[in-house]
Amino acid sequence: MILQAHKITLKCNNKQATYFAKACGVARQAYNWALDEWTKEYQAGGKPNEMALRKKLNSIKREQFPWMLEVTKNAPQMAIMQLGEAFKNFFAKRANYPRFRKKWIDDRFTLTNDQFLVKDSRIRIPHLGWVRMRESLRFIGKIISATISRAANKWFVSITVEVAQGTIAAVNENQVAVGIDLGLSTFVTLSTGEKMPGPKPLKTLLCRVRRLSRSLSRKHKGSNNRKKAQMKLAKLHHRIANRRCDAIHQATTEIINKFDVIGIEDLNVKGMVKNHKLSRSICDMGFYEFRRQLSYKAALKGKRIVVADRWFPSSKICCCCGHRMESLSLSTREWKCPCCGNFLDRDINAAINLEQLAVSSTVTACGASSNGQWLQQPL
Ligand SMILES: [Zn+2]
Repeated sequence: MILQAHKITLKCNNKQATYFAKACGVARQAYNWALDEWTKEYQAGGKPNEMALRKKLNSIKREQFPWMLEVTKNAPQMAIMQLGEAFKNFFAKRANYPRFRKKWIDDRFTLTNDQFLVKDSRIRIPHLGWVRMRESLRFIGKIISATISRAANKWFVSITVEVAQGTIAAVNENQVAVGIDLGLSTFVTLSTGEKMPGPKPLKTLLCRVRRLSRSLSRKHKGSNNRKKAQMKLAKLHHRIANRRCDAIHQATTEIINKFDVIGIEDLNVKGMVKNHKLSRSICDMGFYEFRRQLSYKAALKGKRIVVADRWFPSSKICCCCGHRMESLSLSTREWKCPCCGNFLDRDINAAINLEQLAVSSTVTACGASSNGQWLQQPL
């Protein structure tokens, strides 16, 4: 069994948005209160723990924080439990000392599965009732928790589901936004979980290129044999280019037809960091060709491409809870988020982060946003 999270945009009205903001405020306040208490107790020689702090908050909130009663009790409780997790990670040297949550940056609260209900494309929240979601839950399995968060003035719910391995979502045709991660091990990974391996027969053709180039270098300059060999080599290069181009055409057309908003990363980083080997130039060319085709097809069909700037750490952010890893080695294909405990596939996680960036950039404005930019013209 693995945990999978599906982040869905909420279509909430003003009353619901106000409630969410309030619940986030309560969660933030409880978290910061507990962090403060924890530090003080520890400095006084005590041994603080999250369970005691939750009990303590419960006993004083009626008098000291009466507004906490206006939202689900999960908001403060889960926040303090998350602080406990943060300290666990700190003591295990996986993370820094927990920091205070900030408004706008850490706006989120979590509900346990006994506190909400998901039905089709609606979610029922205590004190509030049904809230509409932009799509229905993608995964089938036992629902574990839901985290409601705000980004760029939009509200999202991330529902964590325990699913059997190998049942990661198929492509949802109604989905309008997608994120794309380009890589060496898998050429194209979509935020829907779909992976496109890229053109395969390249390897055998490349061997022939090498053999031909060697034999070419042995031929006398100006000889007929040399001309013949040159022609052969040129044809082979052409074939390789065609084959690669076909695969890329297929992939880009499929993506453009299916999705309206497409998040993709800046290629400079990848090109420099990821490829050290022989395949470097070939891969680079593939990435640029992929982007070039995607851009002009998007322009033709009126679709939008949002390019994350080169500092956007798409691989290092947990797509479920937003936790940011300090470092993540290139060989790590799967990792467990120390904050929320979800298992993440490196490429899919990066693709989901790019999708979320694309969605929030679309919401923010037309033109530039803080962490994404429109690609106005085909490259
Ligand atoms: Zn996480």
